[in-house]
Amino acid sequence: MYVKITVDDEFATQDIEIELNAHNIYAKCPKCGKEFQVDPIEWAHDFPEFNWGHRPFCDECSNRKSSLTARCTRCGHIWNISAKKVIPKSGFLCWDCSYRDKLIKKGILKGGKENG
Ligand SMILES: [Zn+2]
Ligand SMILES: [Zn+2]
Repeated sequence: MYVKITVDDEFATQDIEIELNAHNIYAKCPKCGKEFQVDPIEWAHDFPEFNWGHRPFCDECSNRKSSLTARCTRCGHIWNISAKKVIPKSGFLCWDCSYRDKLIKKGILKGGKENG
């Protein structure tokens, strides 16, 4: 795949072909103006309604805008959560750990803390 652009000056018209690969595609963040690399495949994957008029935000701006990172206080697992989600006082528990807790409470699974 390549991008083809036509350059013409007073002497000649020339087609320039620019090989397209994952490392030479850039975008400018509409928010902070930072130039950054984009992977169109990943991008199209993130935005199913992809179209060429879209202007992606850089990582920093898009993270600040739409999501936060949560870290499980028990196992250290890190995942993305919505910025709207309320952070519990005791910190986050990942799905695995909270499910485990539920099973322990129900007596299906034996927990680590057994005081009799
Ligand atoms: Zn930005
Ligand atoms: Zn966990």
